[in-house]
Amino acid sequence: MKRKETLLNTMGIKISDTIDEIGDEHIGTSPHTPLREDAFEMDDKRKIELIENHFGEIMHILGLDLTDDSLKGTPKRVAKMFVNEVFSGLDPKNKPAVKLFENKYKYNEVLVEKDITLFSHCEHHFVPIYGKAHVGYVSNGYVIGLSKINRIVQYYASRPQVQERLTMQIGHALTEILGTEDVAVVIDAHHMCVSSRGVKDVNSNTVTSFYGGKFENDEKAKTEFLQYVSMG
Ligand SMILES: [Zn+2]
Repeated sequence: MKRKETLLNTMGIKISDTIDEIGDEHIGTSPHTPLREDAFEMDDKRKIELIENHFGEIMHILGLDLTDDSLKGTPKRVAKMFVNEVFSGLDPKNKPAVKLFENKYKYNEVLVEKDITLFSHCEHHFVPIYGKAHVGYVSNGYVIGLSKINRIVQYYASRPQVQERLTMQIGHALTEILGTEDVAVVIDAHHMCVSSRGVKDVNSNTVTSFYGGKFENDEKAKTEFLQYVSMG
């Protein structure tokens, strides 16, 4: 059943008009992370303080005794983890700096960086999404360091996410950085909101893809990419 009401948080900011509007359907509404314009007016230190207070309140409401030695540091730990680690990719100041190198070898074939470890969080439940990202591109004269591809994946994954959006954001970022449309991204991930709650399906994975340029228009390039990705 859907409940309709307006929730205000303790700062009087409207949280949601319709609870359960999206429910368990995991539908993304935009390729852009829905951020407010004033998202970064507050500094990280203040964000951590506020989240610590609010998370402590959630734990208190759940009935937990925050004077317990094991629990008393949790609100601060969670706040720091949110701001400095798992959601650090919301802030453009944390976007990895990427240097391009000239493709001296004139390698003009498909380059694939596969099995990139991926950790993200479902924006509908705030529980982990984890899996692998596979990226392919064809150089148009420039290449980037391989570890930078991992860093770009990590940056966009370090946000509350929807897997489709995450895939597109990585694809668009690489298209821009590499200056070529010939970019492919496949993400194969496991959603804790599907396995640990709700339908409790521990076996299903979600696969999403982004294909640009040659990968979109040339069946051969796409097949080659997918062959590399599936190689053991
Ligand atoms: Zn979810």
